[in-house]
Amino acid sequence: MLESLIFILGSCFGSFISVLTSRLPKGEDFVFKPSYCPQCKQKLIWKHNIPLLGFLLLRGRCAFCHKRISYRYFLLEIVTGALFVFASFYLKFCQDTSLLCNKSGYEHFISLLSLFVIITILVSIFLIDYDYMIIPDELVFFLLGVSILLLILFNNGFLYSYLFSGFLASNFLLLLHFVTGGRGMGLGDVKLSLPVGIILGLNGTIYWLMVSFVVGGIFSAFLLFAKKIKLRSKIAFGPFLVIGFFITLAFFDRLSYFYQF
Ligand SMILES: [Zn+2]
Repeated sequence: MLESLIFILGSCFGSFISVLTSRLPKGEDFVFKPSYCPQCKQKLIWKHNIPLLGFLLLRGRCAFCHKRISYRYFLLEIVTGALFVFASFYLKFCQDTSLLCNKSGYEHFISLLSLFVIITILVSIFLIDYDYMIIPDELVFFLLGVSILLLILFNNGFLYSYLFSGFLASNFLLLLHFVTGGRGMGLGDVKLSLPVGIILGLNGTIYWLMVSFVVGGIFSAFLLFAKKIKLRSKIAFGPFLVIGFFITLAFFDRLSYFYQF
C-alpha cells in the first residue's frame, strides 16, 4: 500500500523531470510556466497533466492537434516511480557505507526524502547529458548542496572520509579529462562525481566508478560493433555514471562482504 503511494509520488516527480529536462537546457522557466503541447503549443488542461493517467486518457495523442505524444514521457513516469519504490526498499535493507544508509526514526525519513531528490536530479542529468551532451551546473550544485546538508545532518565522525571520497572521485575523473584531452571525460562528469562521491563514501565510490566504466565500456563496444559510432566518437559519460550509481545502491552491500578482505 505504502509502496503504491511512493510509486505515484515518483511518477509525479517523473512528470516534473520531463518538464525540467526539456526546458532547463533552453533557459525556459520550468517552475511557473504551465505545461503545453510541444507541437501546437496549446496549454494542457489539468486532467491531461495527471502522471500516467493523462497519457492513457489521451491514448498517446494531443487533445488539440492530435499529434502523437512521445512515449518517453510515459516511460519516464514509470521509471521514476519504480526508482522511488527501489529507494524505499534500499533504505530498509541496506548495510553499506553511504551517507543515506543505516538511519532510523526521523533520520530514515530525511534519508528517504533526500534520496527522492537525488533520484530526480540524477535522472534529469541522465536525460540532459544524453540529449545535449552537457551536465547543467545548476543541477550539480543543487546535488552538492544536498550532499553537504546530509554530511552536516548525519555527522557520524567520518566527515573527512566522505569529503575525501568526493575529492578522490572528481580528481580521478579530472586526471582522465586531462589525459584524454577532454575527449573521454567532460568537466561536467568531473563536477558531478564530487557530490556523488560524498554521498556514497569511499568504498561505494570506488565500486561506483568501476561499475560506471564497465557499463560504459560494454555499451560503447556494442555501439562500435553495431557500427553506430566510430572509434573517436564522443559519447556522453553522465548516463553511465547515473546507471552506475543505481547499480551501486542495488548491489554494493552484497559484494562488500568479499570486498572487505
Ligand atoms: Zn498539440
